[in-house]
Amino acid sequence: MRISDFKTRLQDLGALPAHTQRILRHWVQARPLDGGRSKNEHFLPAQVRAELPALWAELHGLVQEKSMHPAEDGSARLLVGLNDGQTVETVLLPRDGLCVSSQVGCAVGCQFCMTGTEGLIRQVGSAEIVAQVALARKHRPVKKVVFMGMGEPAHNLDNVMEAIELLGTLGNIGHKQLVFSTVGDERVFEVLDAGPVKPALALSLHTTRADLRASLLPRAPRLTPDELVELSEDYARRTGYPVQVQWTLLDGVNDTPEEIDGIVRLLTGKYAILNMIPYNAVPEMPWQRPSWEKAAAIARTLHQRGILTKLRNSAGQDVEGGCGQLRAREAVGRP
Ligand code: SF4
Repeated sequence: MRISDFKTRLQDLGALPAHTQRILRHWVQARPLDGGRSKNEHFLPAQVRAELPALWAELHGLVQEKSMHPAEDGSARLLVGLNDGQTVETVLLPRDGLCVSSQVGCAVGCQFCMTGTEGLIRQVGSAEIVAQVALARKHRPVKKVVFMGMGEPAHNLDNVMEAIELLGTLGNIGHKQLVFSTVGDERVFEVLDAGPVKPALALSLHTTRADLRASLLPRAPRLTPDELVELSEDYARRTGYPVQVQWTLLDGVNDTPEEIDGIVRLLTGKYAILNMIPYNAVPEMPWQRPSWEKAAAIARTLHQRGILTKLRNSAGQDVEGGCGQLRAREAVGRP
């Protein structure tokens, strides 16, 4: 379900925009709405009040928590069921962050990502995206939402932007705390700041070499690393938040001295932060994770050469909740 469809249904029942906003605000903030008995709800039109219990149940039934897998670092992977039997994964991150999924599977096919091995199964609707936030809030507060779970947000742009708008207007989440993560697509840079909520941008770059990027991210749009950094930085300067350049470190692949030189060439003077995350090993994939010492030495070198670099482990690796480890587990017709 799309949020816009839900709004239309409420409007058809006689709801004014303020009524619709109140219902959606209570939902996304995981606050109770008692079906029309409290003083406030009495201001809703009679037809909306009559339908409210069913509509409310429908919103809460969009996703179901099938299982929760707590990790040692305080994060937790949620396996989330959708109404057609498909599943996505949502990760509760430390410090009140949440990583949501925007697609079941993904068409980009990054060679180091389990989600990419499945291809695209289906889009996740805007209401299903927001429902992941409402579900997470039953466990803990959510103050930041990153679109870094299953799927490429640029390939489901209308739903993702609709979810971002709701989260940034009624969801009690600061615009800078909404992070749109993409491998890069020209359309993204056109629409990202077109609406009332302008999210922060994370660019999944992973290499400065166009040829290597084409083989690591086989179905990403063919923009060169130079073009991607230029478009991203332009957006970052327009919004006032630095672009977060994402880099999954693959041992012996993109952690070479040539890549370090390439990063310095590409990012010097740019309004950007480089986030390096050593690859999260999964048995099905051939890549190796560089040692922490090697990764730390690379981050140190980049710092010394003037690049603002953060090195971190992704949350929830021990429960396969880390970057690249998410997948459509137990989905219909799949092992
Ligand atoms: Fe898709 Fe992101 Fe995985 Fe690449 S890393 S295949 S874009 S989910």
